[in-house]
Amino acid sequence: LIDLPFELTILGSSSAIPAYGRHHSTQHLRVGNKNYLIDCGEAAQNQLQRFKLKPQRIDAIFISHLHGDHYLGLVGLLSSMHLLGRKRKLDLFGPLGLGNVITLHLKYSDTVLRYPLDFHPLDVETQVQIYEDKYVTVKTIPLKHRVPCTGFLFREKQIEPRLRKQRLPANLSIEQIRKLKKGEDLVNPQGDILYKNRELTMPPRKSRSYAYCSDTVYLPENARLLKSVDILYHEATFMTEKELRASHTLHATAGQAAELAKKAKVNKLLLGHFSARYKDLSPLLREASGIFKNVYLAEEGQVFMPDE
Ligand SMILES: [Zn+2]
Ligand SMILES: [Zn+2]
Repeated sequence: LIDLPFELTILGSSSAIPAYGRHHSTQHLRVGNKNYLIDCGEAAQNQLQRFKLKPQRIDAIFISHLHGDHYLGLVGLLSSMHLLGRKRKLDLFGPLGLGNVITLHLKYSDTVLRYPLDFHPLDVETQVQIYEDKYVTVKTIPLKHRVPCTGFLFREKQIEPRLRKQRLPANLSIEQIRKLKKGEDLVNPQGDILYKNRELTMPPRKSRSYAYCSDTVYLPENARLLKSVDILYHEATFMTEKELRASHTLHATAGQAAELAKKAKVNKLLLGHFSARYKDLSPLLREASGIFKNVYLAEEGQVFMPDE
C-alpha cells in the first residue's frame, strides 16, 4: 500500500448547462498534502463543501479555458478564500484573459484580496511545464477547441528508493539514510563498502500520473503525450451517432475518448463533460467500453486513484 495519497475527486462533469443534478466541470486532486483544483464550474464551492474538501487547502487552480462551464465558479471561490482570511499564496493558471476577468470583478466589488494571487497565463500552443512542487510537475496538453484551451498532465516527481526497514542497521546516521535514498552504497572513511545499496533498499515504485483533457476535438496525435498515464480524463460530450456535431462544435465522442485511451495505452479512462441531451449515461459507457475496457463515468462524488 502506498501511504502517499493520490486522489482525484469529481465535483462536476456536466457540459454547457447543469442537467439532471449534474454540475459543471470541476475536479479536486490531492497528491501528498498538496491540493489542486482543475476547472472551477459554477457550483464548485458548494460541491467542495458537499464532499468535505477545504478551499483554504487548495494550493493551485488550473483553468482549461474560458467557456463558462469551466470557470464561472472561480471569482466566488477566490472571494470566499478572502473572506475566510486566507493569507497563503494561491497559484492560478489559465488563459491570458482570465487575469482581466478577475481584475475587473475585484475592481467593481472594491476588493483587495488578503492573499497573494499569482496568475500565470498559459501558452496553449505547445506542451510546456507550468508548475512544480515537492510532489508533482504539471505540464500542459495542447487541445483544440473553439477558444484557446489546454489540458493538464500531473506527474509525480522521481520517487526515492524504498528502505527495507527490517534490514536497516540500527545506528545509521541521517546522512547515511540520505545516501541510501539517493541510491548510493554506504562506505567507511577509507572508501570500503559497508552496505550495498540494493541490500538495504527496494526499487522506487512507479511515479503516478493523471491527465485532464477537456474540451477538445479528437486529437489522436496527443496519444504520444498521454502515453501510459495511470488515469486519463477525456471529454465525451456526445456519442458516436453525433460525431459530426462533435467535430463541428470541437468536442469529442465517448468512442473517440476510448480510441485515444487505447492508442496511448493508458491504464484507466474516465469519461466526462456530458451533454444535457443524455439523462442516462450508461450508453456512453457502453460505447467506450466496446473499444477500451477499463473505463468509468466521471460522476460527481466519485474518487479515483491509480491502481497500485
Ligand atoms: Zn465545456
Ligand atoms: Zn468549452
